[in-house]
Amino acid sequence: MSLTQRIVSAMVLGLLIGGSMNLLFAGEILSQGLETWITKYLIDGLFDTVGQIFVNSLKLMVVPLVFVSLLCGMASLGGGSRMGLLAGKTLCLYLVTTAVAISLALSFALILGPGNDINLAEASEFAASEAPPFKTTLINIFPSNPVAAMAEGQVLQVIVFALLIGLASSKSGDAGRRLLDFFDDLNKVIMETVMLLMVLAPYGIFCLLVKLFASLGFGVIVSLASYFFTVLLALAAHGVGTYSLLLLWTGLSPWRFFVKMRGPMAFAFSTSSSGATMPVTLKTVNEDLGVDNRVASFTVPLGATINMDGTAIMQGVATVFIAQAYNINLGIEAYLTVILTATLASIGTAAVPGVGLVMLVMVLNQVGLPVEGIGLIIGVDRMLDMCRTAVNVAGDGTISTFVAHSEGFHDREKFNATNL
Ligand code: ASP
Repeated sequence: MSLTQRIVSAMVLGLLIGGSMNLLFAGEILSQGLETWITKYLIDGLFDTVGQIFVNSLKLMVVPLVFVSLLCGMASLGGGSRMGLLAGKTLCLYLVTTAVAISLALSFALILGPGNDINLAEASEFAASEAPPFKTTLINIFPSNPVAAMAEGQVLQVIVFALLIGLASSKSGDAGRRLLDFFDDLNKVIMETVMLLMVLAPYGIFCLLVKLFASLGFGVIVSLASYFFTVLLALAAHGVGTYSLLLLWTGLSPWRFFVKMRGPMAFAFSTSSSGATMPVTLKTVNEDLGVDNRVASFTVPLGATINMDGTAIMQGVATVFIAQAYNINLGIEAYLTVILTATLASIGTAAVPGVGLVMLVMVLNQVGLPVEGIGLIIGVDRMLDMCRTAVNVAGDGTISTFVAHSEGFHDREKFNATNL
């Protein structure tokens, strides 16, 4: 089996075994002693430990990879207007696709009315954490200390620093060239390290999913089925519809795209973190989808940090669901505010599990909905987080391919090659 096939098999196996364990526990079929032993030594012991080590090893590569590969990419583009155009186009596309995603989500939720059968007169208790204001998010993109930015894993700050040093290197003559030779070599070594870690991926993914599904189970879905499936439907419509249209526009096969992206999407599903998946996305986008590293090294880390179409979809459906549950009528102005706020919120959403829900606070506040409503949907959020993160990552891959294609940085033969 190829590595991708092993990863997808590990995912399916983890889901099945974890889900079955949960059913066994719920049905009280096992003796108390055996159940405690399995929970203590297998689920919270072995599987949790291996899963966490795996996520840590992925996160380990994020900062070195973003810094070195983006620095090399920026330097070889020579900075200036070429990079400016590329950056502007990428940013616009990320924002526009997010706005489309949330509009789709609002339409689905308004048509299907997932919260219509719930009648809450008063908001229930829920302790919401405050989302940071947009101004802070904007200021935080610019680092005051590159070492702190790297140590704290602030990807946007690392991107800004790498772009600066890359630009300066391309303008520094011999000194810049010597430095770039070193970084080019380092880039190759880092990519090789990612390859080494990928070999562990099937085991890591399997353990993460067994642990997660053994404790979550599918039971929670039943009580929130209408909300859960509305989000899934909107995710599928955007993932398959919008992304396929963009790819067809460039004459590329959406089918081939999704087949090649199934590895990163499986990573995203298992880790619920586009940040931790970033090294894998970058590798696939560059090596399998044929996006030149000069483009991919910029678009993928940027996308992993600011492009969250799946998250915006959850926020759109959740907003309508909460409004319907509390019998609050939102006007067209409120919906436009939701589109704008959720699009901007996606920039500030950290690429780690569960942050989309924190940013939902900001969206609800903007339109005056009870933040406590989040308590209604929190039960299924972990599972939806897995699905929306896979869509977030597919979005990064689509826009990277689209931008590379339109800017003449795309290797169509690589994209079409059947190296699966
Ligand atoms: N887990 C998502 C991501 O990393 C963010 C979120 O929606 O919570 O992309």
